[in-house]
Amino acid sequence: MTRETAASRPAARYLDGPVAIIGAGIGGLTAALSLQHFGVPVRVFEQARALREIGAGVTITPNAMNALDVLGIGPALAEQAGETPRYFVRSAADGRELERGPDPGSFVPEFGARYCNLHRGDLHAALTEAVTKNDPDAIALGHRFGYLEQDGQKVTAHFSNGASFEAPALIGADGGASAVRDAVFGGQDASYTGHVALRALVPFTRVPRAVIADPYALYVGTGRSLIHYPLRRQTTMNLLGNAQASQWQAEGWSIPATVQEFLGLFDDFPEPVRELIAAVPEPDLFKWGLRDREPLPAWTRGRVTMLGDAAHPMTPYLGQGACMAIEDGMILGRAFAASQDLGEAFSRYEAARRDRANGVQLAARYQGTQHHGSTATGPGSGKTAATLGLFSYNPVTEPI
Ligand SMILES: Cc1cc2nc3c(=O)[nH]c(=O)nc-3n(C[C@H](O)[C@H](O)[C@H](O)COP(=O)(O)OP(=O)(O)OC[C@H]3O[C@@H](n4cnc5c(N)ncnc54)[C@H](O)[C@@H]3O)c2cc1C
Repeated sequence: MTRETAASRPAARYLDGPVAIIGAGIGGLTAALSLQHFGVPVRVFEQARALREIGAGVTITPNAMNALDVLGIGPALAEQAGETPRYFVRSAADGRELERGPDPGSFVPEFGARYCNLHRGDLHAALTEAVTKNDPDAIALGHRFGYLEQDGQKVTAHFSNGASFEAPALIGADGGASAVRDAVFGGQDASYTGHVALRALVPFTRVPRAVIADPYALYVGTGRSLIHYPLRRQTTMNLLGNAQASQWQAEGWSIPATVQEFLGLFDDFPEPVRELIAAVPEPDLFKWGLRDREPLPAWTRGRVTMLGDAAHPMTPYLGQGACMAIEDGMILGRAFAASQDLGEAFSRYEAARRDRANGVQLAARYQGTQHHGSTATGPGSGKTAATLGLFSYNPVTEPI
């Protein structure tokens, strides 16, 4: 476990061993890669026995793409994604254009990086490969975090397989239902938003022509919204619908759903959208209930901090959850490298991240209400991540 590689030579001399990261999702792996990039060795503990991601798309906007570029995996991912079409926000009532996204060619000149629609599996695989190339022992599978103990010298993580690990610092990157957050800050209530989300991937060969001609669209309608965009060089269409559902829905991301159920919720949406839903291969259709949590006033206690959904779980209405996790990871590595001790590293990290991520968490909640409208005003496009100016934050250069 002490293999020395170029990337694992300790730069932060105040650390006397690898930093423990709980969770090998997009956030945990980006943090691992960023810490390695700055010469800090890591050990990532993942509960799953095999590394995999759900079959879905994820928009990685220039703010986060800047980090992936610096960490060395951005260019190949952009190549895998292919061209990003311009997006349109449309009325679900009649397909009318409500907002037009920026020219995709403007992102690099304006923000220094591309806007990519990626397959989550491709992003996850690129992160895993880069982290294990730096250190083949960096990721330990089959380790479900249970609880921790900490004192002035170390933090010890205990896992349900009976193993434990002692580290100078621990990062909770274990997602929205974080066990690290519960262990350090006590359980946090999550409220069901009254919205169900449905997701599917549709092979391009099954996608209606009218959708191929208008491939990146967000439809907003009363109580519902639906977005579709192409992945993997226009070979797969990603589809995500959000609808009010008074009946309680479980949290997870992968509860099987039916085309009939999906169509029933969107039966008054424009015809191309209904045709696209009808074309979904049923085994690839999943649903889950959206939960919302209040922003946390602090993410750090002693030798433990958190990032990604563990720190700031958010509703999907700005498509920024993964981007925020990537920004966190980039800044955390920079904070370790810039500091003289762990306390300084964690306070630099939290100071640079808390207002930004908690602000996006609240903005995502608000945009959900705007997209879905109210009986008084009807649905409107509200704002998107682009019109809110979220792409101007660059985690590579942001002062820390
Ligand atoms: C369908 C869908 C579409 C989305 N689209 C977008 C988008 O377009 N753009 C965007 O920016 N965001 C998007 N998001 C949000 C984004 O995916 C999340 O914000 C992001 O995945 C958070 O990453 P994370 O690493 O913090 O958490 P997660 O991805 O949840 O990863 C947590 C990891 O921790 C592991 N874990 C959990 N508990 C334990 C434990 N006790 N011990 C050990 N390991 C544990 C899990 O197995 C998992 O591997 C989308 C989400 C979904 C579901």
